[in-house]
Amino acid sequence: MSIFQLSITELAQGLRDGEFSSVELTKNYLERIKQHPELNCFVTLTEDHALSAANLADQRLANGTAEILTGIPIAQKDIFCTLGVKTTCGSKMLDNFIAPYNATVVEKLNASGAVMLGKLNMDEFAMGSSNENSYYGPVKNPWNTQTVPGGSSGGSAAAVAARLIVATTGTDTGGSIRQPAAFCGITGLKPTYGRVSRYGMIAYASSLDQGGPMARSAEDAAILLQSMAGFDPKDSTSANTPVPDYRADLNKPLDGLKIGLPKEFFTADLNSDIAATLEKAINEFTKLGATITDVSMPNLQMAIPAYYIIAPAECSANLSRFDGVRYGYRCANPANLADLYTRSRGEAFGTEVKRRILIGTYALSAGYYDAYYLKAQKVRRLISDDFKKALAEVDVLMGPVTPSTAFDLNEKSNDPIQMYLSDIYTIAINLAGVPAMSIPAGFVDNMPVGLQIIGNFFAEDRLLNIAHQFQQVTDWHQRTPKGFE
Ligand code: GLN
Repeated sequence: MSIFQLSITELAQGLRDGEFSSVELTKNYLERIKQHPELNCFVTLTEDHALSAANLADQRLANGTAEILTGIPIAQKDIFCTLGVKTTCGSKMLDNFIAPYNATVVEKLNASGAVMLGKLNMDEFAMGSSNENSYYGPVKNPWNTQTVPGGSSGGSAAAVAARLIVATTGTDTGGSIRQPAAFCGITGLKPTYGRVSRYGMIAYASSLDQGGPMARSAEDAAILLQSMAGFDPKDSTSANTPVPDYRADLNKPLDGLKIGLPKEFFTADLNSDIAATLEKAINEFTKLGATITDVSMPNLQMAIPAYYIIAPAECSANLSRFDGVRYGYRCANPANLADLYTRSRGEAFGTEVKRRILIGTYALSAGYYDAYYLKAQKVRRLISDDFKKALAEVDVLMGPVTPSTAFDLNEKSNDPIQMYLSDIYTIAINLAGVPAMSIPAGFVDNMPVGLQIIGNFFAEDRLLNIAHQFQQVTDWHQRTPKGFE
């Protein structure tokens, strides 16, 4: 089997058995990445950094201090600050920004010996569902390059699907790990809000943003999350809750597992072939000993309108720091300070980012605050209560990740509402703060379909266990797009 098909565990074994060194592995992966510029997954390749990290990893492997990730090639979504390396967040605004420090996630993955090969393309400031909002151009879906990979972590998902890298990081504010994972046929996990530090992860909507792993399998995602998760005093919303051993329970049988199916997830909005595919997948769980009950979560339908007040409100505040003074792009020859602000922001932000800043500024303005922002916060509480109630009756919820498979490039780029609706099944989870996964569950017209598994706060270990058990009896997660075998 080609080394590009090996999992983290298999690569770790190969490194220990001396079948290849980390330097060899790194060179092979860098070569493969360069062979596929058409996917446009990477904004920056960090070859020198990678080779010196691989060298260090080989030393650790030789002297017995290696961990499971030591020597394994990974890549970071370009939203995570990387010391001395360009960190663009997919924006012209940060095209010249060399981060002066590492995000905690980067620091932790570096410390475990993972070798970062580069920075991955994404929608500008993580706003988008198709990766068409990047200053660096769209990413292509390796299953069909006429289609989008999903967003905003599109580069992360496409790179893993095409086997350009073993595993990557992503971030998820309203679906940006799960939706691209579903479109590209990979495994993605959005952890509980606060599980993974946001320090050094460029902020979009701070009460919703959460980093997480994107990988081929639940086992690989567990390994990555193990390194990423944990309390961080540098992030005031980081949870001071112990991190379990995410691989310890992967093999636990699923007897007695109670699965709830929210009826609001299975409506006419869902493509009927996807519905049939998910039904088959969910049926696998009954064979594994689970029981299924229907649940109702009546407030889910208000998730998109509430999110498109809260997220833009927070982004309008977060993005006010990009003023042409402190960092990033500055316009040429400003006439005065106001001109400097307006032209720097006007020239460097893309259309979608500007749209959100305008919506957010409007929603927060005096006189409108109660009508929009406060109302949206109340709706958020109702949605969150729906999850609490449902998850008191069942162990996990299951449903679709997306209403359709990957759509065509340019299909929705001029219709923001249609674009926003593609996150209809993912956004409520961020509003509630609970963890959720997308796992490969089948194909419709040769395009991957994702199954979403939603758990209670800090039940990442349970989600990974459930996903892993499914992946023991199915091989959807091992399918490789044509031309990338
Ligand atoms: N598509 C959603 C948005 O554009 C979610 C993006 C995300 O999760 N970062 O806001």
